[in-house]
Amino acid sequence: MGANHRDPDPEVVLRVKSLEKVLSDKGLIDPEAIDTLVDFYENKVGPQNGAKVVARAWSDPEYKKRLLADGTSAISELGFSGMQGEDMVVVENTPKTHNLIVCTLCSCYPWPVLGLPPVWYKSPPYRSRAVKDPRGILSEFGLDLSEEIEVRVWDSTAEVRYMVLPERPEGTDALSEEELAELITRDSMIGVERVEYKES
Ligand code: FE
Repeated sequence: MGANHRDPDPEVVLRVKSLEKVLSDKGLIDPEAIDTLVDFYENKVGPQNGAKVVARAWSDPEYKKRLLADGTSAISELGFSGMQGEDMVVVENTPKTHNLIVCTLCSCYPWPVLGLPPVWYKSPPYRSRAVKDPRGILSEFGLDLSEEIEVRVWDSTAEVRYMVLPERPEGTDALSEEELAELITRDSMIGVERVEYKES
């Protein structure tokens, strides 16, 4: 783990927890409201940024080229940058290749595009099995890949944060960039699911 992976300082974590307890004991905050807030950043605010990046890449081939060549600068074109996103590498899913991201050492995650990492991403079973048995992990997420598809696992290092550019689903040619962005899930940008589209 260590300073390079920039996990929160244990002392800071302890202080935050202590503050939360004091404020909640005094009836000044509701711990459930805090959980709701964290959930909001985990699932809503954060991943919406990544979804905009993916939708742009699907809609604009020149942007996609820039994104795959230099993730950090292409992502910052859309205004997303900052901590844990200083050195971004975007890896593209294709019919032949499926990418999966992990941090085997701790919980490094591309905050500017995905927000806060989900609990399972930080869990030891995911971190160890993503490398040893990626197909098994993917299958548990409901994604059974045929043997012909190569699975590549990207382990976040001290500086580099990865994001998956998922495959654009069939039948979406007529959708606007905004409509495309709504289809793109957090988990598809981690690489544990595909982006689905059902014509209505
Ligand atoms: Fe890490």
